[in-house]
Amino acid sequence: MEVLINAAYLVASAMFILALKRLSSPRTARTGNLIGALGMLIGVLATLLHRSILSFEGILIGIVIGSGLGAVMALRVPMTAMPQMVALLNGFGGAASAVVAIAEMERLHLHHSIAQASTALTGSIAASVIIGTITFTGSVIAFAKLQEILSGRPIVLPFHHGWNALQGIAILALVTLLLLQQRVWPEATVLELFYLLTAISAVLGVMMVIPIGGADMPVVISFLNSLSGLAAASTGFVLSNYLLIIAGTLVGASGIILTNIMCTAMNRSLPNVLFGAVGAEAHLGGATDRIVRSTTAEDAAVILGYARSVIIVPGYGMAVAQAQHAVKKLTTLLQQRGVDVKFAIHPVAGRMPGHMNVLLAEADIPYDLLYDMEHINPEFEHTDVALVVGANDVVNPAARKDASSPLYGMPILDVDRARTVIVLKRSLNPGFAGVENELFYQPNTYMLFGDARGSLEAIAEALKSV
Ligand code: NDP
Repeated sequence: MEVLINAAYLVASAMFILALKRLSSPRTARTGNLIGALGMLIGVLATLLHRSILSFEGILIGIVIGSGLGAVMALRVPMTAMPQMVALLNGFGGAASAVVAIAEMERLHLHHSIAQASTALTGSIAASVIIGTITFTGSVIAFAKLQEILSGRPIVLPFHHGWNALQGIAILALVTLLLLQQRVWPEATVLELFYLLTAISAVLGVMMVIPIGGADMPVVISFLNSLSGLAAASTGFVLSNYLLIIAGTLVGASGIILTNIMCTAMNRSLPNVLFGAVGAEAHLGGATDRIVRSTTAEDAAVILGYARSVIIVPGYGMAVAQAQHAVKKLTTLLQQRGVDVKFAIHPVAGRMPGHMNVLLAEADIPYDLLYDMEHINPEFEHTDVALVVGANDVVNPAARKDASSPLYGMPILDVDRARTVIVLKRSLNPGFAGVENELFYQPNTYMLFGDARGSLEAIAEALKSV
């Protein structure tokens, strides 16, 4: 049976790797997702054959409750709330690893065998509980911030980093004591140390995420995702489960690669995101004396209708307005008039990686019209119109020009270099980072205020008589 289970784990692992490969392009992502899910099913079924399973009742109840909750969440949660959901799912992953580690320690205690446990086992249990608990409490805070239960701005306590360093030192000291004294001290004392370790890790998770705010949240979510994978991998060592080790390592590695891509996209380093407390104050003000040129759907239709080239820049507002189908309709109308239409996709546009690609794919906008930042940026200066649909931070020229801006250094889409810029949004309010946008006051920028979907539909209607 052992051989059969391990063979099934090998197949499942190969399917995970294949799934990741296919998930790297929107064209193959659907089948990638399916292959991954199938791999997971094989993994779960093989695990159910394991001889150390004592009763199936608890597992069955867990499957029913978990699948029910998962199905409701998948059906109910809107695309705009996806980052919070991902944060919560990472947290559950971390919690699951921590719970397994605690159960394993309790089991050792019950059989009076803590002293006999190998250093490798105790070390893996400690790693699982530390990383798992930090991931859980950190993810709960990330969820609360994104759901606006807590303020999205950094919350910094006096001597914050000092406290965090002390907790880090306490965790290292406790692990060292656990490993050195597990055979010397009474088992009850070792267990108490272990619980203290769990509690300090839980507080550290909270303390690590509360000072992070604004535009850094996506990086944190991706980092916590990576941590949840590492927690699962160490739980794999605790349970001697190869699939958990491989799957956890894959999540850990892909999470850290994504974290790195996002840090690069925002021109930040991971330590700067984790310890920088960026976004503490909103950079607003000084807007009153400048002129904003607002336009109408009819005028926008004329500008777009007579353009040779248009680059559409979608942002979070397109997701809120669910305007992707209206974007597609306008694109088709413009193409029928011979206008060259392209889409510029910023790596952190929206509220999660790939957010814009998913929405545009949903509206059947062909992938070959989608360009990433490096490829489209040189084209703006030769483009007649940049049409910004509910994007803000990712087109803020302050990132290039204003060294005092929190966005300074973040690579942006250079829409301000287009001959004309039309911005569709409801007001002059700032975006996620809370930073004012100079673009709205540029002489070549026209603001079309209103819900993006309504504005796009009105432009499409007006275009028919242009
Ligand atoms: P922003 O959050 O900067 O701006 C979105 C704009 O959309 C707002 O200014 C808002 O203006 C407008 N808007 C909202 N609703 C509507 C509507 N119904 N119709 C029209 N406009 C609307 O979005 P960007 O996509 O430019 O930038 C993404 C930001 O989010 C970055 O700071 C990024 O770092 C951060 N982020 C990214 C994540 C990712 O992984 N992609 C995850 C989490 C955060 P108004 O209210 O005036 O309408």
